[in-house]
Amino acid sequence: MEVTFWGTRGSIPVSGPRYTEFGGNTPCVSVKLTSTHDIVILDSGSGIRELGLELMRTIGEHSGNLHLFLTHAHWDHIQGFPFFVPAFVPSFSLDIYCSKDARDILSRQMSAPFFPVGLDAMGSTKRFHMLNGSGEVRVGNGCIRNIPLPHPQESTAFRVEENGASLVFATDTEHSVNGVNEQLASLAKGTDLLIYDAQYTIEEYEKKRGWGHSTFTEAVRLAEVSGAKKLVLYSHDPTHDDVTLREIEQAAQEMFPNTVAARDGMTIRL
Ligand SMILES: [Zn+2]
Repeated sequence: MEVTFWGTRGSIPVSGPRYTEFGGNTPCVSVKLTSTHDIVILDSGSGIRELGLELMRTIGEHSGNLHLFLTHAHWDHIQGFPFFVPAFVPSFSLDIYCSKDARDILSRQMSAPFFPVGLDAMGSTKRFHMLNGSGEVRVGNGCIRNIPLPHPQESTAFRVEENGASLVFATDTEHSVNGVNEQLASLAKGTDLLIYDAQYTIEEYEKKRGWGHSTFTEAVRLAEVSGAKKLVLYSHDPTHDDVTLREIEQAAQEMFPNTVAARDGMTIRL
C-alpha cells in the first residue's frame, strides 16, 4: 500500500515561511491499496483539498470509489470537506465512515450562515456508515478496524491492513498517565507504520493536561510496546515551526531511530 500525507497539522492550518518544510494543512491521509483502485482516505482536514485536485488530475487511474474514515468531528478534521472537488462530481462515490452521524456533522458544517451551499449541492453518490468500535470494513482485500480513543468528544483510531502490510492512524488522543493505552497498543501490535498524535513537547503537555493530545515521548513508548516498525509523529502543534519540528523529530529518533515527523506531501510505501 501507498500512504500519502496531505495534511499533518493539528488544531488549525498554518502558512508562511516558518512552515515550508512540514507544511500547514490539517489532517488528511490517503491510502492506495494494491488489491483495488478504490482509495481509502483518513480524515478531511484542509489537506483533503489537495488530495481532491490530485484525484481529479488522475481520473482513470483510480475507480472513483472513495472510502472516507473520519476520526471525529472536531473542525480541523472536517473543514476541508466542503472544498473536496470529487464530492461535487457525479462520477465519484463516497462511502463515509464515522462513529458519529457524519451526514449530520457535514451538513451542519455546510449550513447557513457558515457556507453558501449545502451538502445536497454535492453531486457525488454518498453513503454514510456508522462505526461502533467492533467489526471491520472491507475495501478490496483491505480490512479496516477501529477503536475509540480518549479525547474530548472521543476520537477513533483505525488500522488498515492489506496483504500483510498495515498502518495504524491514531490521532487526537491523550495518553494515560498510568501507562500505555492497552487497547491502542493491541490495535497497533506489530504494525508497519504507526501514525500517532505527538502535538506537544513534555513541557507543553504539563500545561495542557486534559486537552486531548499526546507527546513524542509517548509516541515512542507506544511504538516500542506495540512493536511498530516505523513511527510517524503527527498532528503538529500550530506553534511548532520547521526548526522546532526538526528538533522534536531528532529527539524522537534518538529514542526510536525509525521515526519521521510527518510532512505534507510525504509518501511512504509499505
Ligand atoms: Zn480533536
